Amino acid sequence: ARTYDASYATVVVNKELQALGSGRSTRHIEVLLPEGMSYREGDHLGVLPNNQKQNVDRILRRFGLRGDTSIQLTSDVSHLTHLPLNRPVKIHELIAYCLELQTPVSRTQLQELANHTICPPHKRELEGMLDENSYRDDILANRITMLDLLEKYEACELPFERFLELLPPLKPRYYSISSSPSLNSEQASITVSVVREPAWSGKGEYLGVASSYLAGCPSGERILMFVRTPESEFCLPKEADVPMIMVGPGTGVAPFRGFLQARAVMKQRGLSLSEAHLFFGCRNDSDFIYRQELEQYEREGIVKLHTAFSRADGKPKTYVQHLMKENSEQLIHMLMSKGKLYVCGDGSQMAPAVEETLQQAYQKVQGATVQQAKDWLIQLQAEGRYVQDVWAG
Ligand code: FAD
Repeated sequence: ARTYDASYATVVVNKELQALGSGRSTRHIEVLLPEGMSYREGDHLGVLPNNQKQNVDRILRRFGLRGDTSIQLTSDVSHLTHLPLNRPVKIHELIAYCLELQTPVSRTQLQELANHTICPPHKRELEGMLDENSYRDDILANRITMLDLLEKYEACELPFERFLELLPPLKPRYYSISSSPSLNSEQASITVSVVREPAWSGKGEYLGVASSYLAGCPSGERILMFVRTPESEFCLPKEADVPMIMVGPGTGVAPFRGFLQARAVMKQRGLSLSEAHLFFGCRNDSDFIYRQELEQYEREGIVKLHTAFSRADGKPKTYVQHLMKENSEQLIHMLMSKGKLYVCGDGSQMAPAVEETLQQAYQKVQGATVQQAKDWLIQLQAEGRYVQDVWAG
């Protein structure tokens, strides 16, 4: 917590945004910020999560330990700053708060497991996983963890202290703030897509560390968090007359909810608003998150909403980039006249598809070559008028 200058915020709202039967979970979580903490639209909330109790229990079982036993760790190794050294700590707290348990086993960890395995066939099996192809296809692709292997290879006599040393520190997870301080500067909200599906390892369910932790935090619970401003210019335009194009399917809509709240407050204060378009995408009505609010903003003239449905009955699969293509001319003109483009959400497929669509739109509308269109996009980025807040799966 000290590394990130984190403080406690109190959860005041934690509700489901998806309709019953959608098969997925997206949580709207509002927190009361620690005194003196502020943020602006487009900032991130960093959350220091706790590991799931079931994983803590798996470790206690494997090493034959009791969670409420206090131990004192000492070390002269400087990289272990994430472990509470030289003071008593309960084992279950140590495992729950300090260690990243669900990352795939690294080669160093694998080698160490093999070194501590006496049974020759099992030792050979573990060493075999170090082979480049096995490591890629069996370990990384299935996200096999050190704990999975310790459970499988009971003859491995890795000492608990060494296990602690080998695990990386539990990382904070970042969430785009989905509210505006101009509506309520003491509270911030985040929009969390919960990672919960059959584990790729084939063993049980995979629960994402932070998203599951947050989903399970009831109102009144305190979470350790901090606010971080992204380096890109992912914030409201400084001048009120800058046209805005916001592209945010799924939870990518999060920062734009904050932008729209801020615009609504500006309108209430009698300020004139620039043109703004929001390209939102979802599968169908069941995961159209924040629908009522977004439609209300559209009715009030805060934004023009373009919604792409990828799995609506009887309709062709539509993604945000398809709707952008239909509006090519208007979008290019907005960007040519000092507009600003924001893209938020999936960085592996959506963001590249949006970029490709823009490039083609520019070529078509301006009669430009591929290279000219690419240069134009680079120029927009350099001017801070094409900004992204994207992440991988
Ligand atoms: P983790 O425990 O970290 O697990 C995720 C990992 O598990 C991934 O590597 C994934 O490939 C893997 N995985 C997925 N499914 C399985 C499976 N079935 N079996 C095994 N492995 C699997 N998220 C939001 O929801 N809303 C936001 O607004 C948001 N904003 C972000 C902004 C930024 C700048 C960044 C970097 C990320 C943002 N994220 C956001 C993503 C978020 O930070 C977390 O990465 C996400 O919530 C998953 O974290 P987790 O701890 O729940 O999952």
